[in-house]
Amino acid sequence: MRLRLPADQITNLRDALQRAGTREIGGQIFGEQLAPSDFVATELTFQKRPGTFARFVVDIIQAARDAMRFFDRTAHRYTRYNYIGEWHSHPSFAVRPSDIDVAAMRRLVSDPEFKGGFAVLLITRLDGNSLNCGAWLFDPIGSILAVTLEEHS
Ligand SMILES: [Zn+2]
Repeated sequence: MRLRLPADQITNLRDALQRAGTREIGGQIFGEQLAPSDFVATELTFQKRPGTFARFVVDIIQAARDAMRFFDRTAHRYTRYNYIGEWHSHPSFAVRPSDIDVAAMRRLVSDPEFKGGFAVLLITRLDGNSLNCGAWLFDPIGSILAVTLEEHS
């Protein structure tokens, strides 16, 4: 799977990471499907309640509200515009999912209420001026697949 990050979203991410310092921050990823397995992350949301030094916990109330806003704005054309996944930062750890992250994503995609076919986890960190990102796709069967990230202009 390919996930493209638009320049404006990268700028927002960079600014937020700078402000957050050593606290983990995160949110959801929404976007547009361009082709099978090819997505552009048109909107990264930013959860108001940050995490701690080592942990980011999703605020499900804000997540539901942000999702509703995105679906309203994209006129509920779900086949084209949909939820892509979750993102959070690892200011003090490597850019890869922790055991807790993997467990949380597996729980998310295997939940009977979950409507999608997959969810991506994007992990990011700012090292000086360079933004490092990694992304993984989780599916309900239990697979974890690498996601190719690309800047989208
Ligand atoms: Zn994490």
